[in-house]
Amino acid sequence: TVSKILVSACLLGRPVRYDGSAKTLEDTLLDRWVAQGRTVSVCPEVMAGLPTPRPPAEIAEGRDGAAVLGGDARIIEIGGADVTAAFLAGARIALDQAMRHDCRYALLTDGSPSCGSGFIYDGSFSGRRIDGAGVTAALLRQHGVAVFSHRDIGALAAVLGES
Ligand code: SF4
Repeated sequence: TVSKILVSACLLGRPVRYDGSAKTLEDTLLDRWVAQGRTVSVCPEVMAGLPTPRPPAEIAEGRDGAAVLGGDARIIEIGGADVTAAFLAGARIALDQAMRHDCRYALLTDGSPSCGSGFIYDGSFSGRRIDGAGVTAALLRQHGVAVFSHRDIGALAAVLGES
C-alpha cells in the first residue's frame, strides 16, 4: 500500500490560520493525493483547542521547536501569553494522527511555530526569519516522519517516486 501523507490543514484550504485565513496550496500533485484519499489533514493548533482567529505566536528568543520539546524554550503570543502547553499538546495530537494512519511523510506549512520545517520567526514579532523548525515538525522528525515544507512538494513527490 502507498504511504499516507500528513498535510497541514491550511494547505488543504481550511481557514484555520491565526488570522482566520487558509494557505491553500494549488498544486496538481496535492490534488491527486487528496483524490486518492492519501492525505491526513491536521492543524495542531486547532486540535489543541486554540481558537481561530487567535493571536500570532512565535518561539521565544530565537529558539526552535526542538528546544521547546526539550523544555528549553517557550512559545509566546504577541501579547505575552505563554501558549507552550497548547502547542506541545497539538504536536502530540498530530504525531498520534501520523502514527494512527501510518504516515511516513508530512507536507507542512513553512514558517509556523507548529508546522514550520525550514524557517520560523525569531520571537521578536518583527518578521525576522531564522532557519529552524516548529514544534510539530520537530516532534514528527524525532519519530521518523520525513517532513517537507509546502515549497518542497516537488521533492516529496520525487522521494515518493511520483514526480
Ligand atoms: Fe496551518 Fe499548521 Fe498553522 Fe494549523 S498550525 S494553521 S495547519 S500552519
